[in-house]
This record gives sequence, C-alpha cells and structure tokens, in this order.
Amino acid sequence: MSVSTSTIRCPVCVDSATSRWGSRGGHAIFECGACGLTFFDLSSFTAHDYRDYYRYTETWSETDIVYEVEVRRRRTVRQLRRLASMIPGRRLLDIGAGPGYFCRIALDEGWDAEGVEISARAVEIGRDRLGVSYIDLEAVPAASVDVVCCRHVVEHVADPLGLLRALRRVLKPGGVLVVHAPHREPCRTTCWASPAHRWREWQSERASTRSPWRPPASGAPIPIPSSSAITSASGPS
Ligand SMILES: [Zn+2]
Repeated sequence: MSVSTSTIRCPVCVDSATSRWGSRGGHAIFECGACGLTFFDLSSFTAHDYRDYYRYTETWSETDIVYEVEVRRRRTVRQLRRLASMIPGRRLLDIGAGPGYFCRIALDEGWDAEGVEISARAVEIGRDRLGVSYIDLEAVPAASVDVVCCRHVVEHVADPLGLLRALRRVLKPGGVLVVHAPHREPCRTTCWASPAHRWREWQSERASTRSPWRPPASGAPIPIPSSSAITSASGPS
C-alpha cells in the first residue's frame, strides 16, 4: 500500500501529515499520521444534497413505513435497554434521524426522544406518519440531553470536531454519546471513556459478517484514538 505523503488535511488534526491508505469506489482513502483516522477527501465528491436523500420514500405505502420500523425494532430495543442500564435519564436526541424509525421505537420504549434531520421529506414522514418530533440542534438547551445517538453521520460532515462540540454542548454531565461510524478494519467493540462524559460505541455490528475491509498490512494494529485525545479534541464541556 502506498504511503506517499499527501497534501490532504486530516479533518481532526488539520495540520498533521497524511498519506494515501487505499481506495474504495474510485475514491482515495487517506490516513492521518498523527491520529490514525482514515477518511475520504470530501472535497473530491460531487456535491450531494442530503435534503433530497429520502426522495425514494415518496412512493412508499403505509405498509412500507411500518416494515421499516418493525425490521429495526428488535435490535433497537436491545440497544436502548443497554443505554437505559448506563444512565437513569430518558431524554434522547437522534442525530440524522431520517424518517424517525429509531425515535419511534425509543418513544415506544418510554424515552423522551426527538430527531435532528435536514431532509424535509424525512421529517414529513416522521412527523405525519410516525408521530416523531424534530428539533434544530442549535435550539436544544445546553446540558439537557441524557443520550445523543449519532449513527453514520460524523463521516459525512466536513467538520466532525465541530459536530462533536455541538453534541457535547447539549449532553448533560455524565451523559452518553453513541457514535456509529465505518471502521476501516473489522472490529467488534470500541470504548472511549472520559471522566466528564462517557463516549462509547457498543459494537460495529456489520463488521463480523459483512465488512469487506481488511488491514492494509497483516498484523497492523488497529489505531484507536485515546480517550484523552478525544476529550481534548472535543473541547471543554
Ligand atoms: Zn488526525
């Protein structure tokens, strides 16, 4: 695998050296020499408007929407119960909530759940068909949320640290942030912990069965940012 130095900047460290790690779908993947993050150069992608992301749902029937909720229910309930064992509060925010499947199930499980979503189409479905409410992240009071779920969002934003700071702002002290993001190598669990906030990823659920990813060199360690790096990178609470 080529390790030639790249001029592409790490979205976390910004000024650290990066190198080309591999490619997928014709897009180069870069690796940060300082923090080990692997990432696409988002500027190389054609502009993608996530506000239109859920247009395919325009032809959906009621049966389709119910199916989308029910096919997720068992796994989601298991995740929510694990979260409930970690923290007594039940105020939950789902970032990139889409049509609100996760929020609907959370509401059914007794959580005070709201979604954050930029797609008007998704919000329309969630509000009108699933009874889910949405809120702008900026409108969420500081230190008011027990659990923030941010599943498969952080890898899509140009400023992941800015997003993490915004999420930290709304979390109560001791609150839980759940982040799901692709990992370049199969892994089952990653746990980041800090004294003020708990940072956890409960599992990389697809990794063991479907991930096509393999380490670039056999025996290469899987770099996982230290809790102190994550804590300091996300700024003061
Ligand atoms: Zn970095």
